Amino acid sequence: MTPEDFQKVFPFVRDWISKTLAAHAPKAKSAASFNFQKLPLYHSNELLARAKVVVVDKCPVPPVSTIGLTQFADFENMNARGIAYLDTYFVLWHEAEQESLHFHELVHVIQWQLLGAERFLALYADGLEKHGYRNGPLEVMAYNHEARFNSTEPPYSVEAAVRQQLQQFS
Ligand SMILES: [Zn+2]
Repeated sequence: MTPEDFQKVFPFVRDWISKTLAAHAPKAKSAASFNFQKLPLYHSNELLARAKVVVVDKCPVPPVSTIGLTQFADFENMNARGIAYLDTYFVLWHEAEQESLHFHELVHVIQWQLLGAERFLALYADGLEKHGYRNGPLEVMAYNHEARFNSTEPPYSVEAAVRQQLQQFS
């Protein structure tokens, strides 16, 4: 996707995100309210209090194929376990107790915050187009941190690590 194409689609996706988050806001809960034991060792209390979680039957994905971006059809149809937009993430109801899924989506919340919406979406779409869902750089980062979270490595500040890793994209 050229930068010009991205500039055309960005307002569509940005507005879709605003509407989607507003529609789900009444049932959003803080990440902290899940009372996970390991998350506070990796993510700040400030983030856990601020990040919102919506438990759903299906994770909402912007319908970009309806505006002609058919290259993202696989992503639209992949039925994700979780997905993050700005400070809010969605998780499937039967995965809602999976601490590592919350951990992973919180990495994306940090990425959204540090990059800003436009830069996040541009990088995410570029990764998706060139490398596919799992191998886009923002997903690789999230999955690598998730693997460390699930390992016996000692806890660390994920935000500090992500902040440093994102420097390569600035
Ligand atoms: Zn992810």
